[in-house]
Amino acid sequence: MPSLSILLVALQAATSQSPRLAALKQEAVRDVAGRVQFTQQMVDQIFSFAELGFQETETSRYLIDLLKKNGFTVREGVAGIPTAWVATWGSGKPVISLGSDIDDIPQASQKPGVACHAPMIEGAPGHGEGHNSGQAVNITAALAVKKVMEREHLPGTLQIWPGVAEELVGTKAYFVRDGLFKDVDIVIFSHVDDNLATSWGDVAGNGLVSVLFSFQGRSAHAAGAPWRGRSALDAVELMDIGWNYRREHLRLQQRSHYVIPNGGDQPNVVPPTASVWYYLRELDYPHIMEMFALADTIAKAAAMMTSTTELPPRILGSAWPGHFNRVIAQDMYENIKQIGLPEWTDADQRLAKALQRELGVPDSGLAIKLDTLRPALKPNERTGGGSDDIGDVSWNVPTVTLRFPSNIPGLPGHNWANAISMATPIAHKGATAGAKVMAMTILDFLMRPELVTQAWDYFRTVQTKDIKYQPLIRPQDRPAIELNRDVMAKFRPEMRRFYYDPTKYRTYLEQLGITYPTERAADGSCGGGATP
Ligand SMILES: [Zn+2]
Repeated sequence: MPSLSILLVALQAATSQSPRLAALKQEAVRDVAGRVQFTQQMVDQIFSFAELGFQETETSRYLIDLLKKNGFTVREGVAGIPTAWVATWGSGKPVISLGSDIDDIPQASQKPGVACHAPMIEGAPGHGEGHNSGQAVNITAALAVKKVMEREHLPGTLQIWPGVAEELVGTKAYFVRDGLFKDVDIVIFSHVDDNLATSWGDVAGNGLVSVLFSFQGRSAHAAGAPWRGRSALDAVELMDIGWNYRREHLRLQQRSHYVIPNGGDQPNVVPPTASVWYYLRELDYPHIMEMFALADTIAKAAAMMTSTTELPPRILGSAWPGHFNRVIAQDMYENIKQIGLPEWTDADQRLAKALQRELGVPDSGLAIKLDTLRPALKPNERTGGGSDDIGDVSWNVPTVTLRFPSNIPGLPGHNWANAISMATPIAHKGATAGAKVMAMTILDFLMRPELVTQAWDYFRTVQTKDIKYQPLIRPQDRPAIELNRDVMAKFRPEMRRFYYDPTKYRTYLEQLGITYPTERAADGSCGGGATP
C-alpha cells in the first residue's frame, strides 16, 4: 500500500507537469522575446551612466522611474543608503525577491564593441564587471510575469532591489539588518557571466570583512624638526610589512589585499593621519573574524612601534560566503536547459575571439555549450576567491544566483576588458536569455507552493542546521555612503556627454558611431567610433 508521502510525491509530480503552468511559462518566454528592445535599452542606458558604488544616482533614478511607470511601488533610501530602493508589486504570498548589482569599477572606462583598450574617458569608471545588465534581466522578467499574474489573478508579490556598492560589498548586510527580506519567500539574484548557469551549496569563493585601519600621529617639519613628528604613514607601512610577513603562515584559503587611501599630504609634513584599507577574506565567519583580530593586533603593534595611535577600525563592507538553495537551483536549471544559450552571430564571435587574442588567452570565442549543474562543492574543493554580499542574503532566505551569458570567457575581471561586450548584442542577448529563465522560475514558485516549502526545508534542515548567521557588521557600523563621492564628482560632468539617448539612437553603439565589431587596426592602433 503506498504511503502518504509517496502519494504526496506523486501529486507533486502531477502538479509540476500542469499544462496550465507549462503554457503560462511559454507565454512569459514569448513575452520576454517581444521585449528585446526594452531590455537592450536598459542594458545600454546603465552602461552609459557607469557609476561607482554608493554614487549610483542616475542609475537608481532611471530604474525607480521605470518601475513606477510600470505599476511598482518604490521605497527609496533603504537602510539609510541614498541610492538604495525596493520596488514591490502585487499582493500576498509568495513574496519573490529579485536582486542585481548596479555599480561599476574604477578606471574601467571602455568603448563597447572595440576589442582592445580604448577608454571613452581616460581614468573614468566603467562597467568592467558588467553590473549594467542584471536589472534588465530582473525587470524584463518581472514585467512578463506581472502580465500573466494580472490576467490569471495569481496571488503573490514581486520585489525588486539593487545591489548598491557590491564592489565594496557595502550594502546587503544592511538590507538584511533593515528587514528587507523579513517576509520574503525566495530570493533570485542575477549576475553577469559567460554562460547561462546556476549552482547550489557553498560557493567556491570567500566571505570577507572590509576594514579601514587609521592612525593618528603628530605633524612636524619633515626636515626642520623630524624628531618632533610621529608619522601615521610609518604605522601604515609597518602594519603592511607585518601583514605581508604573517601572510605566509595563514591558511591557503585566505585572500587579503589593501590600498592606502590616505598616505599623508606632502613630503615636507610628517603625516599626522594615514589609513590603510584591507579586504580580509576567508571561507567562513570564524576564520574571517580571526583574520580581523590578527590584523587589528598587527595595527596595534605598528602603532606602538611608531608612537602613534590606532583609531577604532572602521568596517566599510562585509560579505558572508554564499550558500545557494538546492531546490531553487534544480528548478532553475531545468528552465536553463529549455532556454539554452543565445545564438551568437559571426560578429559576436569575432569580437570575443579578437579580445581573447588581445589578452593572450585561448580564442575559444563565446560559450556554445551550457554549463552543467555541478553538485555542491565538498569542503576540500573550496579554495577561496572573490566575494559577493549576496552571501548575507543567502543565509537569511533561500537564495540562488542566476548567471547569464552577457560576457566573454577568459577575461581578468574588474578590468576594461570586461566592459567591451557589455553594451553590444552579446550583452543584450545574454540578458534576454537570463530574463526568460528568470520568468520561468518565478512562475514555478508562484504556482507551485510546494517548491517554496521544499526550499525552506533545505534551508532549515540542511543549510542552517549547524551554521547560524551572525552579521559581520557591528551594531555601531553604518553604510560607507561617502565612498567614491570625489571620483564621481570629478568625472561625472564629462561622462554626461556620453549618456545614452534612446529617443535618438536605437543602440548605444549607434550613438557612439562604433562599427561592430571593431578590432585593432592593421597599423596597430586601437580606436573606433566617433566621440560626440
Ligand atoms: Zn559582480
